[in-house]
Amino acid sequence: MVKKKKKTLAIILIIFFIIGMIHGLSSASLNNFLTWLLIGLWLIFTIKLYENIKRHREFNSPHNTAFFVIIPLLIGVFYSIWGSYTGILGENLIPNSNFYFSLWSLIFGLPFVIYGSHSIYRCFKKYNVIYFGTKSVKAKVLGFFLAISIIIVIISYWIAFYNVSEFYDSPFTPLRFSLDLNLFLLLIITIFNLIIFGFISNRSNIPTRDYIAQRTRRINSLTTPSTQNYGTRTRSRTIQTPTTTTRATRTTTTRPRSRTTPTSRSRSTTAKTTKSVRTQKTTSTPKIRDFSKYKPKGSYLSEEDFKCIFCFKLPKLPDDRNKGIVICPNCRYPAHADEFKDWMKTSNLCSRCSSVIPSGFRRNPRIITTKNYIMIYKHFLK
Ligand SMILES: [Zn+2]
Ligand SMILES: [Zn+2]
Repeated sequence: MVKKKKKTLAIILIIFFIIGMIHGLSSASLNNFLTWLLIGLWLIFTIKLYENIKRHREFNSPHNTAFFVIIPLLIGVFYSIWGSYTGILGENLIPNSNFYFSLWSLIFGLPFVIYGSHSIYRCFKKYNVIYFGTKSVKAKVLGFFLAISIIIVIISYWIAFYNVSEFYDSPFTPLRFSLDLNLFLLLIITIFNLIIFGFISNRSNIPTRDYIAQRTRRINSLTTPSTQNYGTRTRSRTIQTPTTTTRATRTTTTRPRSRTTPTSRSRSTTAKTTKSVRTQKTTSTPKIRDFSKYKPKGSYLSEEDFKCIFCFKLPKLPDDRNKGIVICPNCRYPAHADEFKDWMKTSNLCSRCSSVIPSGFRRNPRIITTKNYIMIYKHFLK
């Protein structure tokens, strides 16, 4: 499947290479040859990007890969610049103004100028992290970096374009000298993006990694078994028990002190509840029939996508033997069951995709055994 797709892209490139050779040789113009080659490359990238956009629409993914955030901007800038050089479709549509805007700019530059600007906007407002391979970068940081880089690139390009005259003796003599309207638009939009969405407005509901890490430390300190105090031990256990029993223990704590269970009994209930967790786990996930039901809604799955959304650890045995995994019904990203339940006490939103978790699922989340979840991610990562 992938091979076939690569073949199609290679064929496109070869076709445009041949067209370029014919037109370039017949008109004795390197410019025409390069322009045709650029059209071929543009087509290939547009096809790849279109596939990516389709997948993102489907999943409303909170992250993206660097390739699809940065490359569209570079394409937008480069193809707009090439408008001043192209021998094909390069005629200025607004010759009586100081600006340059041709069919070339409209077809090959403008869509990516708009898409790239929108990418920067989403870095500030929507995306949580952007992946470089398996490494992630805070989307907002990347947004600032891109916006400032774009401003610097455009301004320095103009300085070079209008001042360095030796540049014109090369085979790449510009054919037009009016100010490129695409680049001008991109500059204005980027400055606007940077000021309004980068500096002034705050992103709202997506919890930051720092916030989640802080919460995880709190949960970890809560779940460390304490030998001295049975009270905290029971509390830490209740996080792991199914919500029905959690509710029961909660009602006992609201009762007067005299009626709370003695330590020996609370210890026995602890044992009982952990046992019930185990039995519930084994009954709730008999066999994995349909793996797609457990697939996180990301475009490109990596190990990162199977890490707990709270503590960023990959579920492992034997560490997580008694924990179990809950996956968000919407984005299907995993969380340790105890951390998920603890989070549900303070929020009814998924911390990863911000969708509302149905109240039935909150009360009684479907728990997958760690063993089964390991099978699931091994299935997707192979
Ligand atoms: Zn976790
Ligand atoms: Zn979710």
